[in-house]
Amino acid sequence: MRKRDDRGTVADYIPELSRVDPAQFGIAVIDEAGEIAAAGDCDIPFSVQSITKVFTLTLALGMVGDRLWQRVGREPSGSPFNSIVQLENERGIPRNPFINAGAIAVTDLILSGHQPREALGEILRFVQFLADDPTIHIDKAVAASEQRTGFRNRALANYMRSFGVIDNPVDFTLGVYFHHCAIAMSCRQLAMAGRFLAHGGIHPNTGRSVVHPERARRINALMLTCGHYDGSGDFAYRVGLPGKSGVGGGILAIAPGKATIAVWAPGLDAAGNSHLGRIALEKLTKRLGWSIFGA
Ligand code: GLU
Repeated sequence: MRKRDDRGTVADYIPELSRVDPAQFGIAVIDEAGEIAAAGDCDIPFSVQSITKVFTLTLALGMVGDRLWQRVGREPSGSPFNSIVQLENERGIPRNPFINAGAIAVTDLILSGHQPREALGEILRFVQFLADDPTIHIDKAVAASEQRTGFRNRALANYMRSFGVIDNPVDFTLGVYFHHCAIAMSCRQLAMAGRFLAHGGIHPNTGRSVVHPERARRINALMLTCGHYDGSGDFAYRVGLPGKSGVGGGILAIAPGKATIAVWAPGLDAAGNSHLGRIALEKLTKRLGWSIFGA
């Protein structure tokens, strides 16, 4: 681990991520009218990692509907993002779709009936559509780096497969999972992609519905309760918005009816969430009175 007390610690369990310069910081805010306020390294693509779990959950719900909840729970885990212990207690059913085990199970649902390449293409195209930006791509070096070193995720997937929670060959499911985690986006692209969640499920650029308003509300509820691993309670306490973090140092936060905010600062805190990103969101929401719990 590279130590930077003032900024947190850059994730290094995926070797490629350890190369990222911790001195970077970007932020983008997009309001209801589509006005963008962005600053710092807001246009530099970074590895969004777990933030894609919001988009894969949305896609999977669109494909299989509430049947998804037979495979994945909706409770905060109170455990680290890559924890295996709870899987044993709950017969292979992950606690929620935003910890690794849950996201791997969701990926498996998207994969069923498709070739891995098709499933991955579907996920990437969905993210490009949401961000209204066909240039968004997968960082193949990051995907390969995780594919070589993702032993814990392999254990999670095999364990779930032993309970029948995963249907496809584990290597196929993990291949799709590692690659969608390796999607690279800037803060500006990420804030754009999340807008349907801030505005009742409507894609603001086209006015078309991405999801029913009720589904957008429920995804936001999951982001609030489960979006920051075992730091979710603290994030709700300090920031007061639905949000999803990733070990690349990004956070996507949703101010329902108002705006989306994407921040990126690669240094992480002990729970694996962007240290400066969380501080920036805390200051911003306090200043603007955007917490969903009141000013
Ligand atoms: N691809 C990462 C992993 O599975 C995602 C972790 C994260 O951002 O929480 O370890």
